[in-house]
Amino acid sequence: MTKAIATISKTNEILKQFSLYAKKNYGQNFIIDPSIVEKIANNASFTQEDAVIEIGPGIGALTEQLAKRAKAVYAFEIDERLLEVLTYSLKDYANVTIIHQDFLLLDLKSFVDSLKQNYRNIVVCANLPYYITTPILFKIFESKCNIPFITVMMQKEVADRFTASVNSESYNALSVMVQYLYDVKVVMKIPRTIFNPKPNVDSTVIQFIAKEIQHPVKDQQRFFDFIKACFKQRRKTLYNNLRAYLQGDVEAYLTSCNLDVKIRGQQLTLQQFIELYEVIYEG
Ligand code: SAM
Repeated sequence: MTKAIATISKTNEILKQFSLYAKKNYGQNFIIDPSIVEKIANNASFTQEDAVIEIGPGIGALTEQLAKRAKAVYAFEIDERLLEVLTYSLKDYANVTIIHQDFLLLDLKSFVDSLKQNYRNIVVCANLPYYITTPILFKIFESKCNIPFITVMMQKEVADRFTASVNSESYNALSVMVQYLYDVKVVMKIPRTIFNPKPNVDSTVIQFIAKEIQHPVKDQQRFFDFIKACFKQRRKTLYNNLRAYLQGDVEAYLTSCNLDVKIRGQQLTLQQFIELYEVIYEG
């Protein structure tokens, strides 16, 4: 039986064979624990009828496990050096397509639409390049592609914001916007020791599960801009942040939603943000 790519010995063999070193500017940290990549793939909510989109396959550690379980894997890799590496490391998996492209520049909607004819579901699963975690996720969130499950590893502190509850330290605009669109679940926590090279941070795998939005606003972009404005200066009150953002009687808006003028953004639930937004813009 061939060794999994994510084993230390196989990873070292590949790095040596291709004289490869990890590029920091591309956020390259390769997973060297086969049980972790297996667990991520097992928890990514797809079947053999589905296609998986992966961002940043690296040398193929997670890709291999996705390929074993999905009908097809489409992996976007920015680093040209990795193309021949992946062709070698994944040679046994005919269902993998490596695409040499900066994922942030992809026309994601057209790409996903073209896949939809051939697969039951299209999901995303990746160990993300940490320096662009939020832009990648917002690209997916805002693409309107109807991707039902997004299972991704990211820096622990960023994951904490996505999963934060009202009144907690990590709760911010990101938490509110994401929780408007998705149910968010922690899949597992990952220590920094399972990477080569070892990063300075720990990681968390989280899953975003698309949900039926209970109370959809008419203009989602405008709502998101409003949320960002509410948290613009975290130490300021909601009143002061909104005074800087809006014309109109902010105090009256707050009062009509039973909100104290001294309240801060991090004290409002998603539902309270929606109510306030609707009073201001749709009232
Ligand atoms: N999946 C591998 C693993 O888990 O071992 C590698 C993950 S590594 C954290 C992130 C990967 O994303 C690297 O291979 C890096 O080259 C790639 N990457 C960085 N920026 C990218 C971008 N804009 N588009 C596509 N891939 C990118």
